[in-house]
Amino acid sequence: MNARKTPDQPNSGQPLAEQPSPGELSPRSREQTLQRLGQQHYDIVVVGGGVTGCGIALDAATRGLSVALVEMRDYASGTSSRSGKLIHGGLRYLEQLNFSLVKEALTERALMLRTLCPHLVRPVRFIYPLEHRVWERFYLGSGLVLYDTMGGAGAVPRHRHLTKRGALRLAPALKPEELVGALTFYDAAIDDARHTMTLARTAAAYGADVASGTKVTGFLREGQRVTGVKVHDAISDREIPVVGKQVINAAGVWTDQIQDMVGGRGKFQVRASKGVHILVPRDRIHSDAAILVRAEDSVVFIRPWGRHWLIGTTDTKWELDLDHPAANRDDIDYLLRQVNRVISPELSREDVEGVYAGLRPLLAGESATTSRLSREHAVESPVPGLTVIAGGKYTTYRVMAKDAVDAAARGLDGAAPESCTQNIPLLGAAGYQALWNSRQRLADEYGLHVARIEHLLQRYGSLVTEVLALVKDRPDLGEPLEGAEEYLRVEISYAASHEGALFLDDALTRRTHVSFETMDRGLTAAAPAAALMAEVLGWDDATTKAQIEHYQQRIEAERASQEEMDDAGADAVRKKVRDSRL
Ligand code: FAD
Repeated sequence: MNARKTPDQPNSGQPLAEQPSPGELSPRSREQTLQRLGQQHYDIVVVGGGVTGCGIALDAATRGLSVALVEMRDYASGTSSRSGKLIHGGLRYLEQLNFSLVKEALTERALMLRTLCPHLVRPVRFIYPLEHRVWERFYLGSGLVLYDTMGGAGAVPRHRHLTKRGALRLAPALKPEELVGALTFYDAAIDDARHTMTLARTAAAYGADVASGTKVTGFLREGQRVTGVKVHDAISDREIPVVGKQVINAAGVWTDQIQDMVGGRGKFQVRASKGVHILVPRDRIHSDAAILVRAEDSVVFIRPWGRHWLIGTTDTKWELDLDHPAANRDDIDYLLRQVNRVISPELSREDVEGVYAGLRPLLAGESATTSRLSREHAVESPVPGLTVIAGGKYTTYRVMAKDAVDAAARGLDGAAPESCTQNIPLLGAAGYQALWNSRQRLADEYGLHVARIEHLLQRYGSLVTEVLALVKDRPDLGEPLEGAEEYLRVEISYAASHEGALFLDDALTRRTHVSFETMDRGLTAAAPAAALMAEVLGWDDATTKAQIEHYQQRIEAERASQEEMDDAGADAVRKKVRDSRL
């Protein structure tokens, strides 16, 4: 096994002033990473930069293994930026008596809240309106006692019973005729896209070589054995062979496509099920708690997301383009219908600010309905040198990563140390609480409103000092981003200089969420954001113009697909504008 550097041991021989910050994903570091990808022999090569793949890279690197991760588009550009953004045990699994899954997920929830990434995860209070006076209160109340008990004492407050009047005081938007009382309980919310990218950066800080814009196009083989992958770099248009003792396929809904490159079928397949979310402005629903709505065959969550409510999700089979899942008119109407059953004033399509669709990577099961397919994960090694991991959910990514590395490590020469990621805070976590307590001082020092500092702290944690240092050098970066005033201009610059954003879409959709948080879906912000990225990435005028045009076309295609009545129509419209990295 090759020894790797840790965040405390930066590359030697570089003058301090030019040292990149730990895990910095800059254009310079990307070029160096690509060179190493083609030269080194890794213990582990990971395919896919979603939460599972980035979790694997961190797990392997912190065991002292040498690891490379390749991602064909952007970190979290697949399912991991399109989730319900909840870190939860899943009340539904409790109902299915799947106690071990709930317990595992709630343990992860406590760990993330307390140790791993308190800056990116926070507790959310939910209200669950009751329709039936006695049995429902007893049934749900008993379930929530279990939920509290399994959830790690004190990680979040315990559940409570509310009378009808108490429920309406907490959530005046609820229609009085639709409830007889309520329960409240806590779960946690996460910024999934930023969390996955932060995992990638943390893995890089521990010595992993991670690169986005690098697509696996085939495998390196010696006889039956897999000995690495062939990668195409979308930026320089070059082919790079990446050699590794073990390859881990963590490609989410693309798992079967990667398996097809090896030939032969593994024991399981991955199916896609589409889930759509919509955002509406915060002032459209009067409530101090998130609301859980029992839908026709599932549940719909209405929960706060900055100055918005995030509402979702749907659950339907998807067999069309995996790269560009599309929401249609029916998906949006379904969500509005479920929400309007319980809240007043009712929402209309005009209230919808943003929409996004994602694909759940489900292990193919026996049942035909996708919502009953297993959310649990599976690991297998179909040929020597290759491990496949699939299924699971965002909340349990760390357990999935550990299981995948354990399986791959069996094929390495020496015994690998145990996973230690339960003790590895992500970048930005160390010192976060102290900075949060000092937020007024930071606001005074940088001449920003304290609400801005809070917004930055909950996105960057203690790395906020790097972001603010850029503002100190260039005060114009401390101004709001035109067309998306919730964000500062520096957040776009930092996305390109430190967070691996290579395309305008990366900065407007995943480093910030301008593309689904603004009424115009980021069309006004596109030009100023592109100009800021151009400064960092060295784009000429033609490239900058092409980036803006491509972003506009993507937004137009998404909007048009949302007017289509069904998946076939929405897919045909949406996939006309493809991610240029593919
Ligand atoms: P992905 O994030 O899709 O990552 C796979 C990556 O592989 C992609 O980035 C892709 O670009 C890359 N890739 C594919 N092919 C190649 C190639 N040839 N070369 C290189 N890279 C490649 N879970 C929860 O815990 N809580 C929730 O609230 C929740 N809500 C959800 C709501 C919805 C609507 C959906 C769809 C899912 C939800 N989930 C939730 C589940 C969770 O989001 C997923 O389980 C998780 O994000 C999957 O991560 P992944 O890394 O396995 O897949």
